[in-house]
Amino acid sequence: QEKESLNFIEHIIEDDLQSTHSKSDLCFRFPPEPNGYLHIGHASSICLNFGLGLRYNAPVNLRFDDTNPAKEEQEFVDAIKRDIEWLGYTWATECYASDYFQQLYDWAVDLIKNGKAYVDSQSSEAIALQKGTPTTPGTASPYRNRSIEENLELFRKMKDGEAAEGEHVLRAKIDMSSSNMLMRDPVMYRTLHKHHHRTGTDWKIFPMYDWTHGESDYIEQVSHSFCTLEFLPHRELYDWFLDQVYDPEKLRPKQREFARRNLSHTVVSKRKLARLVEEGIVSGWDDPRMPTISGLRRRGYTADSIKNFAESIGVGKRENLIDVSHLEFNVRDDLNKKADRVMVVLDPVKLIITNYPEGQTEWLEAENNQEDDSAGFRKVPFSRELLIEKEDFKESANKKYFRLTLGKEVRLKNAYIIKGESVVKDAEGNITEIHCTYDPDSKSGSGTEASMRRVKGTLHWVSAEQALPVEVRLYDRLFTDPSPDTHKEKDFLDFINPNSLEVITAYAEPSLKELKVEEKVQFQRLGYFVVDRDSTKSKMVFNRTVPLRDSWAK
Ligand code: ATP
Ligand code: MG
Ligand code: MG
Repeated sequence: QEKESLNFIEHIIEDDLQSTHSKSDLCFRFPPEPNGYLHIGHASSICLNFGLGLRYNAPVNLRFDDTNPAKEEQEFVDAIKRDIEWLGYTWATECYASDYFQQLYDWAVDLIKNGKAYVDSQSSEAIALQKGTPTTPGTASPYRNRSIEENLELFRKMKDGEAAEGEHVLRAKIDMSSSNMLMRDPVMYRTLHKHHHRTGTDWKIFPMYDWTHGESDYIEQVSHSFCTLEFLPHRELYDWFLDQVYDPEKLRPKQREFARRNLSHTVVSKRKLARLVEEGIVSGWDDPRMPTISGLRRRGYTADSIKNFAESIGVGKRENLIDVSHLEFNVRDDLNKKADRVMVVLDPVKLIITNYPEGQTEWLEAENNQEDDSAGFRKVPFSRELLIEKEDFKESANKKYFRLTLGKEVRLKNAYIIKGESVVKDAEGNITEIHCTYDPDSKSGSGTEASMRRVKGTLHWVSAEQALPVEVRLYDRLFTDPSPDTHKEKDFLDFINPNSLEVITAYAEPSLKELKVEEKVQFQRLGYFVVDRDSTKSKMVFNRTVPLRDSWAK
């Protein structure tokens, strides 16, 4: 491996392998809180941690950081596992912080016995006021010097549910004048009489993030605990808590930080995404407009496109906003290789080929994917009455218009060259039929001179009689603003795009009947689409993943 190609995280590991660690010491974890579905930001962390596991052949644990019973649910645990598996990663061990509640409690009792923790019986407001400011020291709690016996008895009462919610907390006794505010006697436990999705009503006290995370890493013997930059000031506390329990015979985990990844025109925060779901702005966590992994999946994104996206933005030390077009580029790039081409007309107008025999149907051969030799061919029906896109015809146009006009020739994809002859209009002047003639010698792939003739435009079409009506859901960005959640004066919901979903009936070539849920195709000249799970026997539903950047017109 070339040294230059390593990112700064890999450099940290390589340096440790040179000095303190052996290869078999390496162990990583991905630690989601099961309070929502995973989003595209999490994908960066998943690809980072599981990618390191693959590179170093080291275990990666999936650890549920489930210490807040008020917000966590089994549904989220299941969704998180499904999404990571779908991305194609395998965890070594499925772990839960809640499995360590007893060990954490026992250690907390040791801290009390060593004079390193005390029960504070003030309100959280009073505790906050005594914290001081970064430039002025905090004030000691009047309970800071409680006796060990009293602390042990009160902590037991908290645990046994003999204390009311919010009556006491357990705090680490560190330094009320530390320049790091987090070191000013942080709270380790609070009392909560809530049902936990795994431990039920067994526990009436719940450990805080800082007390839980490092100790969980230590229990699992995680060598490198990578988290996002906002945890940088927590590192000192992470280390202090480890010092209290650390046995030098064992491996000592390290916390290191990388920059959060944000995506434009959306929000990447489970809490904010939960509001979109709760307020009915989207249909659920896997609504195709959501930046969740399951939403992107339903939108038609492939696991590879998400992994390639994460890989291409890499890990960094500074937070930045990635434009959503970069994500779209990755899915186009992947689907261009993988998706079969089909013809679907979204906004139809009737095209009649006046010199084509009435009642005749020809089944023409169409190539599935010119980017993939193994994709093969299919048959599409051709007949006298076709449907084309309204916007592919103008009665007259200048030389730059490469679609159909009267008196000019275009090719119908996989079929013949046609020439516009006349139009039929209704009383309001709307075009109801376009009449044209076709050149019978110009069939695509026939090798005749007429078929090789160069015409400027190629149009997609479907045969009217065999056309399959399908529901098509056209999605657009969910927010009109690139960073909807960064405006001081406004709520991010003020920037919802009112036109993020348009539902239409489109007309598809009959081969689409065979597609299964989650199968992806390119509607030629239009974009990539995926079969939605709302499809029924009588009506297929397609989601637009992303439009094509370019049409065939050159
Ligand atoms: P959220 O605010 O969406 O709940 P979180 O950081 O609280 O995000 P966790 O479930 O705790 O969510 O995250 C699990 C892991 O994913 C953590 O290591 C976290 O740092 C990482 N992560 C979360 N969001 C991002 C992001 N936008 N970019 C990179 N990593 C992220
Ligand atoms: Mg978190
Ligand atoms: Mg969170």
